[in-house]
Amino acid sequence: MEHPKLNIGEGEIFRSKIECTELEDGTPVILPYFVMRGKRRRPILLLNAAIHGDELNGIEVIHRIFEEIKPEEISGTILAVPVVNTLAFRARSRVDPVDGKNLNRVFPGRKNGTVTERIAYHFFEKFVKKADYGIDLHTGMKGHLLVPHPRIRVVPGYNPPIEHARALGTEVLFYHEGHPGMLNVAAGKRGIPIVCFEIGEAGRIDEYFIEAGVKGVKNFMRYIGMLPGKVEIPENQILLKDYMEINSSIGGIFYSKVKAGDVVRERQIIGMVKSPFTGEKRNIYAPKNGFVLGIRSQPLVRPGTAAAWLMGFDQGTVLPPLQIKNNRNDVKEVESRTFHITKERGIEIK
Ligand SMILES: [Zn+2]
Repeated sequence: MEHPKLNIGEGEIFRSKIECTELEDGTPVILPYFVMRGKRRRPILLLNAAIHGDELNGIEVIHRIFEEIKPEEISGTILAVPVVNTLAFRARSRVDPVDGKNLNRVFPGRKNGTVTERIAYHFFEKFVKKADYGIDLHTGMKGHLLVPHPRIRVVPGYNPPIEHARALGTEVLFYHEGHPGMLNVAAGKRGIPIVCFEIGEAGRIDEYFIEAGVKGVKNFMRYIGMLPGKVEIPENQILLKDYMEINSSIGGIFYSKVKAGDVVRERQIIGMVKSPFTGEKRNIYAPKNGFVLGIRSQPLVRPGTAAAWLMGFDQGTVLPPLQIKNNRNDVKEVESRTFHITKERGIEIK
């Protein structure tokens, strides 16, 4: 079985690919990968993007990490797969349209399964199992613009621990139970800590979210001692658990009145839907105080279509300051630039 080449020399960068399987015309299905080897071989940090083929920001995050970081700066090895789901990527689609399976529901994959299950199998066996840490880069689906945040499970003893998600340095962390077959769930069960990092929206290359992704990856590398420098953690990191979709009640065009990252009060107008045929208007209100995790960016809606994704403050927790275990690093508290949840706006989280 062909494996990625990890035994490269200190200070080297290597780019190659492995073959997983083939298509109907014999075209090989590949996993492209990059390796950067620093002073020591371990730890091995796995970075991957485009498990969903239309999620592009993470691909650029991986390229920037390889462009901006020099191998001699790091201690350990970065193993990166910029596009895991090459078939879905080619189809500009979340999943491979022929197979139809969601790659992020079939991990650890099946050796003799469908093409998507085989990609999962080869990626898991040859990349994930070699990693000491991982960051799995995602975005919201097309039309769902999501603020940068990790999706985490906070079950005691769960892998990865919450500290890994916090080390990405975002203000908001979103609790999510996860589904069987997700990469971080399947890896976590085997003791391999992979944190899922959501940055932006599918089908787009967006500088703000790419920068947030690069910053998060570098922060994480500093936290685990792979990269020198201070870990930048916002003054307040907030864990939110109370997720809800805010749906339109009529069909039409959605005009948003808030942005992803805004804090809203109960009964505040989130947006308005107008029927292009009758002119009928219907406001959409926040059902409770909360944080706008995502907003619909593609405006056509039907009744029941989600217009916004809200994290209510009911089950919010302001986390105690993150302890940095590595002696080389001190936590540097930074001013929150984008998303600030303030008492001045009348919302207090306990
Ligand atoms: Zn995804």
